Amino acid sequence: MSIQFYNTLTRQKEEFVPINASEVKFYSCGPTVYNYPHIGNYRAYTFADILKRVLLYNDYKVKHIMNITDIDDKTIRDSQKEGKSLKEFTEFYTEGFLEDVKKLNILPPEKFTKATDYVDEMVKIVETLLKKGIAYKSEDGSIYYDIKKFPNYGKLSRLVLEEQKENASGRIKTDEYDKENAQDFALWKAWDENDGEVFWTPPFAKGGGATSLGKGRPGWHIECSAMSMANLGEQIDVHTGGVDNIFPHHENEIAQSEGATGKQFVKYWVHNEWVLVDGKKMAKSAHNFYTLKDLTDKGIDPLVYRFWLLMANYGTRVNFVWDALKASEVALKRLQRLYLELGPSDAKALEGKEEVGRIDENYKKKFKEHVSNDLDTPRGLSTLWDLIKDENIPDADKKATILDFDKVLGLGFADLKEDIIPEEITKLVNERALARQNKDFKLSDDLRTQINSLGFDVKDTDLGQKVSKI
Ligand code: AMP
Ligand code: ZN
Repeated sequence: MSIQFYNTLTRQKEEFVPINASEVKFYSCGPTVYNYPHIGNYRAYTFADILKRVLLYNDYKVKHIMNITDIDDKTIRDSQKEGKSLKEFTEFYTEGFLEDVKKLNILPPEKFTKATDYVDEMVKIVETLLKKGIAYKSEDGSIYYDIKKFPNYGKLSRLVLEEQKENASGRIKTDEYDKENAQDFALWKAWDENDGEVFWTPPFAKGGGATSLGKGRPGWHIECSAMSMANLGEQIDVHTGGVDNIFPHHENEIAQSEGATGKQFVKYWVHNEWVLVDGKKMAKSAHNFYTLKDLTDKGIDPLVYRFWLLMANYGTRVNFVWDALKASEVALKRLQRLYLELGPSDAKALEGKEEVGRIDENYKKKFKEHVSNDLDTPRGLSTLWDLIKDENIPDADKKATILDFDKVLGLGFADLKEDIIPEEITKLVNERALARQNKDFKLSDDLRTQINSLGFDVKDTDLGQKVSKI
């Protein structure tokens, strides 16, 4: 079966044909560890996870690398604000990120690569670009990429070349900037006192800049070029990130990598759209973000967020609202209950206590077609619902098929415990909600006692009642 991805490079949905069928080379831009990522960021990593799972589901071997940006303008700025070393500061947030990744059932890549472990590789690329005359040294000792020397500059973001020429007179040293500011960008930043103890001294930095004293640090964009090429080679199949990475980050990655090797860097560039809040991009700088902890503090399982994400295609914008998340929670719980009602675990089945199910090939074909079609998880989920409701499929087969689908969905069906809330309790909880609505607190308390006596606890949260086993 063929896989299709929407390739930002060609602005078309294309059939996926790997460079070398024996192993797909896949790189994802990972987090900048200067704070807790927000749930919008986790859309990028969940989407990369689904993409990888779809490749695996189609029997490809996948080598996946995700970077951890532990050096850039923001990590340096904020580590100093907190009076911590860059290492101590970034390791703290890296830990937090890895915990969240587990909670979201994101398969770990083959390697999480830390930028600070690859400075030598970055230096080599900068040296090559200097040698080729594509990069130059400025007065302060920084090294800039001369975008006019790379005729394909702008091919990913479709930067209009005329505009580029008009604006391309200056240089830009900061890591992030917009398309209107397309200029020569910093590959290597000469040291200044804001960098404190953070610096390296490669040979090309010598003699440059009165204040830098030959010291400096890499720019953000060179980091991903170096980590991708060091682990996956000069040419890779798929590179992912959010749409805001298209310019300048990915445009600059192409310029650096292709400028250095003369070969096409990435075959398929695939980008996820934004999570919005009230119609605006969720972002740290806009102070309109939530972290995964904000969800778990409200008693919401991170997998509910994953499920909510899967209900939309990665390429469409989604507006985050608590009520929608709550509705996803209800839907996921229903799915889980229906799954558990299908019978005992496969382990028991294998012990001979239950018939071992077989994957239903018709449903599998439909599901695979959907998810392989540019990761159409909404249709994949509706196939799952159709399967669960289909009375012509034996329960054991349904179970086996759901577990197979879950290789892509990653909703953790295999790990579900049997402590799902029974119908009887759900009925009492609904009655209690009504009693509370009518301000009949005596009845509400009686119902709580009854629920407790049946072995369940009920808590009142601002998102309604939360029930759990005592
Ligand atoms: P950053 O830490 O800002 O580099 O972002 C990490 C990843 O999250 C990148 O791939 C971004 O494109 C992505 N991203 C940032 N904000 C959002 C958002 N609101 N919705 C979806 N993805 C986002
Ligand atoms: Zn990157």
